[in-house]
Amino acid sequence: MNYISTRDCSLKVSGSEAIVKGISADGGLFVPEVLPKLSQEVLRELAEQSYEERAAYVMSLFLEDFSYEELLEYTTKAYQRFEGDPCPLVNIDDGLFVLELWHGPTSAFKDMALTVLPHLLVASKKKMGIDDKTLILVATSGDTGKAALEGFRDIEGTEIMVFYPDEGVSAMQKLQMATQEGANVYVGAIRGNFDDAQSAVKEIFADNNIAERLKSRGYSLSSANSINWGRLLPQIAYYVSAYCDLLGSEEIASGDKINFCVPCGNFGNILAAYYAMRMGIPVNKLICASNINNILTDFFNTGIYNTKRQFFKTMSPSMDILISSNLERLLFEMLNRDDAKLKALMSELKQTGKYAVDVSLLRKDFACFAAGFATEEDTSDTIYNNFDIYDYIFDPHTAVAAYVYNEYILDGDDTPTVIVSTANPYKFSRDVYSAISEGGETDDFTAAKRLNLLTGMEIPDKIASLRDMFIRFEEVLDKTAIKEKVLNYTDKDRGNNG
Ligand SMILES: *Cc1c(COP(=O)(O)O)cnc(C)c1O
Repeated sequence: MNYISTRDCSLKVSGSEAIVKGISADGGLFVPEVLPKLSQEVLRELAEQSYEERAAYVMSLFLEDFSYEELLEYTTKAYQRFEGDPCPLVNIDDGLFVLELWHGPTSAFKDMALTVLPHLLVASKKKMGIDDKTLILVATSGDTGKAALEGFRDIEGTEIMVFYPDEGVSAMQKLQMATQEGANVYVGAIRGNFDDAQSAVKEIFADNNIAERLKSRGYSLSSANSINWGRLLPQIAYYVSAYCDLLGSEEIASGDKINFCVPCGNFGNILAAYYAMRMGIPVNKLICASNINNILTDFFNTGIYNTKRQFFKTMSPSMDILISSNLERLLFEMLNRDDAKLKALMSELKQTGKYAVDVSLLRKDFACFAAGFATEEDTSDTIYNNFDIYDYIFDPHTAVAAYVYNEYILDGDDTPTVIVSTANPYKFSRDVYSAISEGGETDDFTAAKRLNLLTGMEIPDKIASLRDMFIRFEEVLDKTAIKEKVLNYTDKDRGNNG
């Protein structure tokens, strides 16, 4: 199967090439030419299999240049790094399930894909006969950066540079990145927000001059952001798997529809759910949950995408995003894959900061999407209430989804629902602790300890040990300095002083 660019359908590349390049040279995103189908019969078979096998099977449908055995080797290696079941489905109430995607090395759902991507990338380069070193550039709102660093650290033939907004991530997220180990890593904080970091990185990808200068040093660029197809693909698998789990436990019968409620930022996670639905997973609603940076809520309700609005920092920082890159892939489908129209909308976005689509499109073929948002108060109330009712602790991102779900069902939908849980609450200890206690201000580590006493939930070792780790990366850059940093980085930037 080939991949085409959302901005030029005549441009066709193989799966390996889409993964190696990350983004198309025309600025578009790679999408599969056709979406493979999963029959109910196949789903029943997958229900009997392990997660590693399910994921390898789903990926094999999209990557003809890889064998099932190769993919199974990657998923096996990747999910060995997880504690127990990579994505348990926890039943917290009648017809209500939480899909916990944070049992990986960095305690956020980004691990589901970023433990697989390095295997896909290294193998893709081999298949294409590329010997260049790959320089991975990442703009992060917190969780992608750490997960990408862990995924790519000391992977031969790769270097990774991560940029995050200095004041836009949680204390634990910052420490996780600043203490990163590995000989091929660089981490820089920038003065600005996530969108600034993302725009700077996207510009570098679109700049041929930079590409050539790096090439002369033996490097080619690639992306570990969710614009890379190799990021989205492993995510489709857990939606298929959650459905299989519900079939396996007889919570649903073959063909029954379910809802997924997803906390959204860059729109990668819920887009993977949309692709799973298009492949044949029976879905009633895909519920898109936002925090007060509710640009996606407005888009689904009005058809207008307007980035000219105030940007808020919230306790769910991985969703503090105004330019959701992966929405481009959904728009492409909304426009019936009309690349010229899509390109026009994207240049309108770039020039004016907004665009609009006909709402009738949303009401017709895209009525499967519902959208809502939670304020900061709604979010902490939800953490408190759900702990009270279910004895279950949500991180702030997942709490946003839980709140939006509670609002959504007021309209009377009783379809079984999976709330997609994207982070371990200890990554955001202070906010979670203050949501469920009367205790005053504390630091994150004290909050984590108290949270542990209050809830009995175990603190992940990797988070508890952050306190004593050496801080390797402290550089803070202007957003305009990112380009130079990439062009001129040296061993010293990688923290290798000796
Ligand atoms: C990245 C992230 C999100 C948003 O996911 P997208 O795929 O960007 O929409 C939500 N929650 C957490 C904890 C995240 O790390």
